Amino acid sequence: MKRIIAIMLAVVLAATSAFVLTSCGESKDTKSSETKTELHMATNAFFEPYEYYEGKKIVGIDAEIAQAICDKLDAKLVIDDMEFDSIITAVSSGKADFGMAGMTVTDERKKAVDFTDSYTTATQVIIVPEKDSKVKNGDDLAKAAVGVQMGTTGDIYVSDIKGASVERFSKGADAVLALTKGKVDAVVIDNEPAKAFVKQNKGIKILDEPFEKEDYAICLKKGNDLTEKINKALKELKNDGTIKKIVDKYIGD
Ligand code: GLN
Repeated sequence: MKRIIAIMLAVVLAATSAFVLTSCGESKDTKSSETKTELHMATNAFFEPYEYYEGKKIVGIDAEIAQAICDKLDAKLVIDDMEFDSIITAVSSGKADFGMAGMTVTDERKKAVDFTDSYTTATQVIIVPEKDSKVKNGDDLAKAAVGVQMGTTGDIYVSDIKGASVERFSKGADAVLALTKGKVDAVVIDNEPAKAFVKQNKGIKILDEPFEKEDYAICLKKGNDLTEKINKALKELKNDGTIKKIVDKYIGD
């Protein structure tokens, strides 16, 4: 009998300590990842320094800001890589919770999705061959074959230029490849990815041509209450210097 009581006591003790351990373990910060809500981020991970592969992992400014936001919301970040052109549909159909892809806020896109406050800015730039370029300034695009990434603000911009022949690629890198092979005369793309492409490829350069400033923001399904939560997190991350730290880490000017 004594033995049975001893065993029962041991069982109760073990159960209690396990309970104490798990309840400590499930405190806010260390909640195990399985119990956390997942937030799916739609992106196109070929846009260094905002999102790109380092081995199998997607890293970059957007990936890190998204992680910091999810930490604040106590959610698990899951990144879904897709064509840039599919992000808005993924978000508006509810397949992804938010889209973050160096995405510029435009009035056209605002018809389909909601945007958070902007977390950083960018501009378009023109990449051309270093030597004997047919395109020497923005006006020259009107008589040139211009590579763009499909569905981007670069695409919208070049498509509006009378006389320009627009070559659309699913990745910015493919547009740049076409440029290095002489298949297009220029590429119009966002400034930071352009810098990364020029670094990685010999014989191309960025023209010193000013373009309008664009705001990058996160897009969400219309009427989503996650937008306000992300805005609150973004504000805190701006105020405590986290956003600047992440941007500076990748853009070391
Ligand atoms: N900023 C551009 C846009 O929103 C390009 C984004 C991208 O190619 N990832 O259209």
